[in-house]
Amino acid sequence: MPDRYLRAEDIVNRVVEAIGFITFHPDPMIETLLQNCLLKEKKELPRDVIHTIISNIQLSPDCGIPLCQDTGSLVVFAELGSALSLEEDLSSTLNEAMAIAQKKFFLRASLLSDPLFARNNTGNNTPVTLHLSQVPGDQLKLLMAQKGGGAENMSRLKMFNPSANDQDIAEFVVETVKRAGAKACPPLVVGLGIGGNFETCALLAKRALFDPLNSPNPAESYARMEQELLEKINSTDIGAQGMGGVSTCLAVKIRTAECHIASLPVAVNLQCHAHRHIEISI
Ligand code: SF4
Repeated sequence: MPDRYLRAEDIVNRVVEAIGFITFHPDPMIETLLQNCLLKEKKELPRDVIHTIISNIQLSPDCGIPLCQDTGSLVVFAELGSALSLEEDLSSTLNEAMAIAQKKFFLRASLLSDPLFARNNTGNNTPVTLHLSQVPGDQLKLLMAQKGGGAENMSRLKMFNPSANDQDIAEFVVETVKRAGAKACPPLVVGLGIGGNFETCALLAKRALFDPLNSPNPAESYARMEQELLEKINSTDIGAQGMGGVSTCLAVKIRTAECHIASLPVAVNLQCHAHRHIEISI
């Protein structure tokens, strides 16, 4: 018997509230990292762009205008406690919450039911992308992000030969950022997934974007790789919104997983400066 029962309405209310929050507030570290960029940035044009992004962050909640016109698709990593029973399936509950939030906060309906031929809009920004895992306990933990299309479009995955080394991977990451140019709306956060298989390395890269921006990877080798990648990306002269300078990237976050002896999958998930995510526990 489950120890705890959770009503759909209680989840919906919390999720709507959380969507409302991230619509107007990016990751709290983004503003700090942008202010740090201003200490190093010498060129006038990228400095102007960074000042504008910071003003936008400060004005958005007061004006009640979303941080970006692309209010994204909602991506949720959910951890469901095994001692918890839900009133209805989580996908339906999250879609219900998304539909309410879309109307309540005037979010752009950005999702299509058919990707290729009809390309008809679902009208309420559903469905939510849900990655569900079961964990011990009686809590429901939801990591949620509003993921914009521009940065997502420029993300890439490559199945490396297992003989590849960290420099080969770094080359791929920097090339991905260069190919993206201004289209991914830099300054970026770069999520890098290494290992797993074809589908899980993409998930690792996305999940890495939820990690704290101000703490390095717990493994020394990957922490060093994050720092080296950050420096390499910031020497590309792409800069804030493609205006040149040293502020192309705010942070690189790496997640890894076990992988097959014949494989070395690598995925790069780019995230723009409108880095909107939140974690809630219910
Ligand atoms: S990539 Fe980000 S900042 Fe650029 S339009 Fe999309 S959500 Fe907005």
